[in-house]
Amino acid sequence: MQLTRQTANQRTDHVYDVLVVGGGAAGLSAGIYLQRSLLSTLIIDKGKARSSWVQELHNYLGLPPDTPGREVLKQGKTHYLSLEGEHLNGYVEDVTDEGETFAVRVRIGRTNPTYTVFRSRYLIAASGIIDHLPQLNNMQNVFEYAGHNLHVCLICDGYEMRDKRAGVFGSSESSLEAAFPLGWFTPYITVFTNGEFEVSSEFRHRLTQHGYRLVEQPIKQFLGENHQMSGVELADGSIEELDAGLVSMGSKYHADYLKNIDLEYEGGNLITDKVNRTSHPRIFAIGDLKVGMNQVVIAAADGAIAATQIWREIRRREGSRRSPIAINQAKERFNEAVLMKV
Ligand SMILES: Cc1cc2nc3c(=O)[nH]c(=O)nc-3n(C[C@H](O)[C@H](O)[C@H](O)COP(=O)(O)OP(=O)(O)OC[C@H]3O[C@@H](n4cnc5c(N)ncnc54)[C@H](O)[C@@H]3O)c2cc1C
Repeated sequence: MQLTRQTANQRTDHVYDVLVVGGGAAGLSAGIYLQRSLLSTLIIDKGKARSSWVQELHNYLGLPPDTPGREVLKQGKTHYLSLEGEHLNGYVEDVTDEGETFAVRVRIGRTNPTYTVFRSRYLIAASGIIDHLPQLNNMQNVFEYAGHNLHVCLICDGYEMRDKRAGVFGSSESSLEAAFPLGWFTPYITVFTNGEFEVSSEFRHRLTQHGYRLVEQPIKQFLGENHQMSGVELADGSIEELDAGLVSMGSKYHADYLKNIDLEYEGGNLITDKVNRTSHPRIFAIGDLKVGMNQVVIAAADGAIAATQIWREIRRREGSRRSPIAINQAKERFNEAVLMKV
């Protein structure tokens, strides 16, 4: 069921088995597994999942390589709702550990927002990350190409850049390191500092050794049409022609709502064990937010692993979820079937 601002208030007395923060590939996958384990689940999602930027999901087994990420999200959400999972468009502001349960405070709506507190026994953090992009005066110019041939993920799109003239856009010398693994796919690499930081003589030397060019002038704008970037215009009006780009500027990690809970991080990523449990016994982290590989296939698998572990734990504690009446009816049907065979 898709909850609304009104119906959300009717669910504040209910204790969900699991509340999932984030309805991207990881959260939806977890939701499907949780609902199929007869657990009660609420997914809260603020929208604009990273997967919705994916114009073509090139590497997911069984899907045509031109499948848009938003199609995967659409199918995933329909599937989850068909299993009677609950979903709310909202922003999780904070989480309080109450011992047996979590109190999850959610802002609903951007204009005239309302606030609702939901409760759950487990929490899955599936809220992902978002990539930093080059900061130009006209950001619309950046959004025009980002996710098309201005890529952000080498594992996803290195193949798309093979033998092409590729620009690497960094925010620090260390972020420009991405040029070297990109060299596996193409030798035609130009790295850009956008005039924002200095590059050491050692780094310059390494670039020269690899035959990569360095451009240190500020970027005025990206050039191109139909979402296909064809180069950059620099501050002095000169043009660098390119066929593709790789933005390597780090990410924002969506974990602010966990600030009141003491969890272990590596950089901005949550550290988890092999069942995707964080350092808190009832908080799991899946997808891009946890340490690991940022891929849709991993996010989906993470969801399956965390959900199945939570089901195991609840099942071991409770034994059965079905009402005594339902169990008796099932036994009677079984006995009748056995008698008919005799
Ligand atoms: C341009 C691009 C191309 C890519 N190409 C590929 C590819 O070809 N193949 C591949 O496997 N992967 C690709 N990826 C990577 C892939 O998109 C991610 O690994 C995947 O989307 C991660 O899924 P997720 O569920 O962890 O995060 P997301 O999909 O980002 O979902 C997280 C959700 O949580 C929500 N959220 C965050 N904070 C809150 C909050 N406080 N309250 C409520 N909701 C919140 C977010 O809005 C978002 O909807 C690509 C990524 C990009 C950006």
